[in-house]
Amino acid sequence: MRQLLAGYSRFRSKVFAQHSRQFAQLARCHEPEALFITCSDSRVMPEMITQCSPGQLLCCRNPGNLVPPPEETSSGVAATVEYAVRVLRVPNLIVCGHSDCGEMRALLDEGQLRDLPFLRSWLGYAGPMSHAFRGVMQDPRVWPAEDRLRVLTELNVIAQLQSLRAHPWVARGLKRGNLHVHGWIYDIASGEVRCLDPSTGSFRPLLLQPTEVETSVEEPIVA
Ligand SMILES: [Zn+2]
Repeated sequence: MRQLLAGYSRFRSKVFAQHSRQFAQLARCHEPEALFITCSDSRVMPEMITQCSPGQLLCCRNPGNLVPPPEETSSGVAATVEYAVRVLRVPNLIVCGHSDCGEMRALLDEGQLRDLPFLRSWLGYAGPMSHAFRGVMQDPRVWPAEDRLRVLTELNVIAQLQSLRAHPWVARGLKRGNLHVHGWIYDIASGEVRCLDPSTGSFRPLLLQPTEVETSVEEPIVA
């Protein structure tokens, strides 16, 4: 807890004090640019990766960055998507998986889930494609472990995008053209984001060069 308290102390005395005007504006206005659905993993920090300030990203986090289908009306993810699209009118929805995902590893080795009934049940939403892959690619001689993990992580993002598109308000927004969905994978070791290219169905670097998009926005409020 010592680190957390020291961090809070620094936030109050330095960060908040420096940006108090922005925080005062934020207290009356909530207009995020995107809904960012990602894993609970503490190594994935959406605001840091995108250099967003408070108020710019609406984050929804859960183990494995899953989106239950619309039939699951009591899902917190569905409620967040509904609020983001219908109330906040967020124009972009991002599903972001990541490297070394513990939940994807667990899907490849069900033994890890034996004593974790809640997680096992939740991972049912990884989708039939992901579960079929697990069965087909069991042989480690054919698929090295890291390749299986990478492909499963990609398949899972694709499956969650399908589930997201099936939500009625999302489907409506996509049809009207005022809503866009994106599939991303974040690599922890390199800091690189790869995105799903809808024209090829494969993942490619989000930017060809890290400096491809020049920005004139002010420095974000992130640690
Ligand atoms: Zn994860």
